[in-house]
Amino acid sequence: MKLPRIEDQNFHGKRIFLRVDFNVPVEDGKVTDTTRIEKTLPTIDLLLSKGAKLVIGSHLGRPKGGPEPKYSMKPVYEAFQKLTKAKVSFIEKVVGSEVVSASKALAEGEILLIENLRFHKEEEENEKSFCKQLAELADVYINDAFGAAHRAHASTEGIAHILPAFAGLLMRKEIEMLGGLVMRPERPFVAIIGGSKVSSKIAILKNLIDKVDHLLIGGGMAYTFLRSRAVPIGKSLFEKDFESEAFQIIDRAGVQGIDLQIPVDHIIADQFDANAKSKTVDKMGILDGWMGMDIGPKTIDSYAKVIKNAKTILWNGPMGVFEMDKFAKGTIEVAKAISKSKAKSVVGGGDSIAAINKAGVADKITHISTGGGASLEFLEGKTLPGVACLIAKEEG
Ligand code: AMP
Repeated sequence: MKLPRIEDQNFHGKRIFLRVDFNVPVEDGKVTDTTRIEKTLPTIDLLLSKGAKLVIGSHLGRPKGGPEPKYSMKPVYEAFQKLTKAKVSFIEKVVGSEVVSASKALAEGEILLIENLRFHKEEEENEKSFCKQLAELADVYINDAFGAAHRAHASTEGIAHILPAFAGLLMRKEIEMLGGLVMRPERPFVAIIGGSKVSSKIAILKNLIDKVDHLLIGGGMAYTFLRSRAVPIGKSLFEKDFESEAFQIIDRAGVQGIDLQIPVDHIIADQFDANAKSKTVDKMGILDGWMGMDIGPKTIDSYAKVIKNAKTILWNGPMGVFEMDKFAKGTIEVAKAISKSKAKSVVGGGDSIAAINKAGVADKITHISTGGGASLEFLEGKTLPGVACLIAKEEG
């Protein structure tokens, strides 16, 4: 999968429509976390240093297809202004003659931030004439919004068929890291998959089972796996509809010679509560009236040994109810084990990222994927429309 490198292009004097993910949290008209904006700055700086004129567009929240003041990009504009040295202006419109004029009035090195793309329902509908209107704002299209690449919207897909299209630095990094992981991992390749439900991870498990050497399972989903092997799980989280799928995954791992591990001991609680009565059980099975809340010390040891010898690691989903301190150890220890290993490590999913931060080891991780749904779909083996349209352009 080859993506065009924007570093190699001449963008001097060109108007570029840069699709970003500035979908940041806003409270009382103020941006409370600027991480997503900051992550796009390298792409913005590179393009400006090349003498480009930038028209920047993003979605923010979930407006219902029309303008809603609480989803205006105005607060984002104010936060963004403080983060860049470039001259930025904001226009309270997305498309139309006024926006086209403003884009044409830009000098090299200047930025125009447009209003929330989702103030037009045509954005999510990927409607043709809206795509054309967006395309009128620029000569070149660059997408740096990996988090929105699993959606075929006008600004993530449609416009790429009209203008020369490229991936931004952030987008390319995500694709190269995630793509490299599943296409040509250095072995042993270890996937650690946790989180609450088998149902939301079943597709990724099915895709990974053909690619990994070790599959370590934790979190609430582990109990459906245990139950599928007739292990008593008390009142732990259980998805009856996925019991047979879990059974089949264990079988498939056996047939293919993959080391699939499920927890052999647990931290259990009498109820789902931070102050619940809790204890460690040195067995696979859980008694009636108790629920599994975290992996136990033997499981941590065993998982840590596998992680230590890994050359490639993918982690998605916590090992226990890590939001509650009593049940955070398994997740934190896995984060620490990953940070100590010499493997190339990729961590995705909001909870695993939070755990990496809680363990204070974010700087030891090769790549923290911010893609959310997009990275999960990518790892499930799906073609992301927002990526496919960039690759097709390159080859075509
Ligand atoms: P997910 O969004 O599917 O990655 O799941 C993350 C959630 O799984 C977190 O909020 C955890 O609290 C929850 N979780 C992890 N382990 C367990 C468990 N043993 N029982 C119930 N929920 C769990």
